[in-house]
Amino acid sequence: MVGGLNGGLNIAHEAADRHVAAGYGAQTAIRWLGKDGSRRELTYGDLAGMSSRFANLLRDHGLQQGDSVYSLMGRVPELYAGAIGTLKAGLVYTPLFAAFGPEPIRTRMEIGSANVLITTASLYRRKIAPFRDQLPSLKLVLVAGDDAPYGCVALGPALKRAGEAFETVQTGAEDLALVHFTSGTTGKPKGVVHVHGAVEYHAYSGRIALGLTPGAVYWCTADPGWVTGTSYGIIAPLVNRVTMIVDEAEFDLEHWYRIIAREKVEIWYSAPTAIRMMMRAGAEAAADYDFSSLRFLASVGEPLNPEAVVWSGKVFGQPFHDNWWQTETGGIMIANLPGMEVKPGSMGKPLPGITAGILTAGEDGLTECGTGEIGELALRRDWPSVMRAYLNEEERFANCFADGWYLSGDLAARDEDGYYWFVGRKDDLIKTSGHLIGPFEVESALLEHAAVAEAAVIGVPDETAGEVVRAYVTLSRGFEPSEDLERDVRAHARKRLGAAVAPRAILFRKTLPKTRSGKIMRRLLKARELGLPVGDISTLESDET
Ligand code: ATP
Ligand code: MG
Repeated sequence: MVGGLNGGLNIAHEAADRHVAAGYGAQTAIRWLGKDGSRRELTYGDLAGMSSRFANLLRDHGLQQGDSVYSLMGRVPELYAGAIGTLKAGLVYTPLFAAFGPEPIRTRMEIGSANVLITTASLYRRKIAPFRDQLPSLKLVLVAGDDAPYGCVALGPALKRAGEAFETVQTGAEDLALVHFTSGTTGKPKGVVHVHGAVEYHAYSGRIALGLTPGAVYWCTADPGWVTGTSYGIIAPLVNRVTMIVDEAEFDLEHWYRIIAREKVEIWYSAPTAIRMMMRAGAEAAADYDFSSLRFLASVGEPLNPEAVVWSGKVFGQPFHDNWWQTETGGIMIANLPGMEVKPGSMGKPLPGITAGILTAGEDGLTECGTGEIGELALRRDWPSVMRAYLNEEERFANCFADGWYLSGDLAARDEDGYYWFVGRKDDLIKTSGHLIGPFEVESALLEHAAVAEAAVIGVPDETAGEVVRAYVTLSRGFEPSEDLERDVRAHARKRLGAAVAPRAILFRKTLPKTRSGKIMRRLLKARELGLPVGDISTLESDET
C-alpha cells in the first residue's frame, strides 16, 4: 500500500498527497475541536495543500533537505500541516512538548541543531526569546496567526503567499525524517533518529494493532510532543486514511466522554495515566454517556494494570488493549491485537513479522530464557521503524544492539501461550531477600484495593534484606489517608503477594512524579528517598515532594 512516489519514499506523500491522487481529497482528515468550542474540518485535500504551502515557505527561506524543523505548540492545525510540510520538503521533524520550560527546550534545540521552529507568539515570547541568541543554528521562527513578534514570521500571511503546488522531495527509505526525544523516565532524554522508510511500519502497525481503516473515526489522545503523538497521532492514522479527532484541550474527564459520544469515536488510543484517572472518578462519572460507537480501545506508555483492563471493559463495553513499544522502536511491537483474547495485565504478543525474545546474558553471550523466566525484552533488528541513531551518542546507540537483537532495557517474561508480561525497567527491579520483584506486579496488586488510584513501587536499601519494597500511593475519590487505611492496604498486598514481596511501607501522596508523557518517575522517588541527586528532570510534569 505504501509507495507511488516515482520510486522515492516520503512519509508526507503517504499521509496526504497519495490519498488526494486516489480521489479521496474531500474526505475529512482532521476534525479539529478548538478549546473555545470551535470546530474545523480539514480534508485530505486541505492537508495536502496546506502542507505544500508549508514546504514552499521552508524552501523560500533557503532551507534544504536534512535541515531540522522543531515544533513547539499545542494541538492546532498548523502543527499537523507543519509536520507534513516539513517531511514533504525533505526536512527533519522534531516535536517538543509545548509545556516544557525554556531550559528543556533550549537543550533539545541545541542537541538537534534546530534550524526552524514552528510555535505560537506567546510561547515564543515566554520560552524562546530569552535565549534565542544562544541558538546560532536557528534561522527561522514561524508563529501561528497573523501577527509575529520581532524576528519571527507570521504563518497566516506567509502561508497564503506561498504556492500551493509543491513536488514532494523524493527522499529514499533511509533518509532522515524524524527525531524524537525519549520521555526521560530513566535519565537524560535521548534524541532518537527515524527515517522515511519507517512509514511502512507505521501503516502496517496502525492497521494491524489499532484496527485503523479508511474513514474510521480515530482519536489518539497522546500529546504531540512525544513519539506516540507523531507515529500514531499523525502518521499511522493519516496513512491509513482515517478521520482523526484532534482535541486542543487538555485532559478533562467529562469533556473526553462527551467527545467520544458526540463524535462517535470508533478507535481510541490512550494511556494508563488517563485510564487510571477515569477509574479514580468512578464508573458513575461515565454512566450518562453513549459509548456504543467504540469498537477498539488501546493503551500505551506504561504497563496497563489488569484492574484497568477489567474496569474499562465494563464501562466502555470494550477493554483497553495494552500495547508496548518505545521511542526507539518507532512503532508498536507487542500488542493485544483486535480480536485477540486479552489476558489482563499482559502486553499481548509480538505483531506478525516481529520477532521478540526474552534474553539473559550468560557466559556464552545472550541466550533466550525459558517460558515464565524473566529476562530483557529484545527484538530482532529487522523492522523498518527501528531507530537509526541517538543524536550525538554513538556509543549509547551501539550498546542497544547485540547479536542481531535490539535490547529494550525492559524486563519481561513470556507465558506458554506466547503472551508477554511486563515486569519493569531494568533499573527499577527490586532485589529483596533473594527475590527479584518487578514494580508492576506490586503496583497492580495495590490497585486492586478500592482506595488505591495509582501506585509507584521502589526498592530501598535494607541491611538484612538487601532492599525492601516501598510504595507511594494516591487515593481514589472518597478516601482519606489514615493509619488504618495504610494497614489495610498493606494487609491486602501481603495477602496477594506474600510477606516477602508486599510493601513494608505505604506512603500516601496527592500526586506522583510523572513525565509529560504520563509515566511515573520511580527513579525520582528513589533518589529523594536516598537523598541522592535527582538527575535530569527536564520532562517532569506533576510533582509533590
Ligand atoms: P527514557 O528512555 O528517556 O528513560 P522512556 O523509556 O519512558 O524514557 P519512551 O520511549 O517514551 O521513553 O517509553 C518507552 C518505555 O515506556 C518502554 O521502554 C517501557 O518501559 C514503557 N512502556 C511503554 N509501553 C508500555 C507497556 N504497554 N507496558 C509496559 N511498559 C511500557
Ligand atoms: Mg526508554
